[in-house]
Amino acid sequence: MTMQKFTDIQKERIISIIESKATNKGICNCDNPNMRVLDGQYYLPLLSATYGNEPITLINVLCENCGRLRTYSKDFFENN
Ligand SMILES: [Zn+2]
Repeated sequence: MTMQKFTDIQKERIISIIESKATNKGICNCDNPNMRVLDGQYYLPLLSATYGNEPITLINVLCENCGRLRTYSKDFFENN
């Protein structure tokens, strides 16, 4: 997943993985099951590298009911 815009299949796969890990039907705290994967990949810069953490590339998922934005590790989806 190196391109900036996700295909519909990639978006469905991301949502499917999140749903498979959720303990109930709603992914968001508002229990709305409708989530949208935002195009583009986001980068979380580190203020300091002294802790040994690697920079993380993020995928953002938006709840279409309450607007909550959640970030997920891109690497996680590539490895699961
Ligand atoms: Zn919500």
